[in-house]
Amino acid sequence: ETFDLMGLQEKLLRGIYGYGFEKPSAIQQRGIVPFCKGLDVIQQAQSGTGKTATFCSGILQQLDYDLLECQALVLAPTRELAQQIEKVMRALGDYLGVKVHACVGGTSVREDQRILSCGVHVVVGTPGRVFDMLRRQSLPPNHIKMFVLDEADEMLSRGFKDQIYDIFQLLPSKVQVGVFSATMPPEALEITRKFMNSPVRILV
Ligand code: AMP
Repeated sequence: ETFDLMGLQEKLLRGIYGYGFEKPSAIQQRGIVPFCKGLDVIQQAQSGTGKTATFCSGILQQLDYDLLECQALVLAPTRELAQQIEKVMRALGDYLGVKVHACVGGTSVREDQRILSCGVHVVVGTPGRVFDMLRRQSLPPNHIKMFVLDEADEMLSRGFKDQIYDIFQLLPSKVQVGVFSATMPPEALEITRKFMNSPVRILV
């Protein structure tokens, strides 16, 4: 039970330890390695189990930092959660020099466009604003190779199903997909069936 044996880059490990994590939680122990291998992963776990650091580590490990293009997209149900994920991603990826931006409703569209035009590695956001940025071509999807749905059940119950499907249509077809959800209602299962390839299922 240590982060050291997961094959993570030194700079990522420094970020993890620097953030104050000493040992991986159960979900991190089981989820980080398959995600880092590029596999599609379904993790059914409540919030509070350490899921954020699971997908943040998986993403940070796989980014090409020499390529200043959006390579990972994370969707969350609320602005607050998206901004919290942005902070964790930035903190864990501090030594890697990751560039992250949160695209959420209620903020300036112009400002989002300005920041995206300067280049980012990761976008975290709510479905509405992210779709808006994709539609306006302010967020080019062609380099996106990882796509995470955090609190998928919550996003579906907030009526984001159509927007999530619309976003999927715009992403490269070989994108790696991570679905994190406390529960697996039929609509969440439908997403995993439609958009994931032999996913690894982890239940915590
Ligand atoms: P999450 O489920 O991602 O919302 O995380 C719940 C809380 O657990 C957050 O406050 C994290 O900072 C904390 N946490 C996550 N992973 C670890 C870990 N390996 N060691 C200590 N705290 C952690």
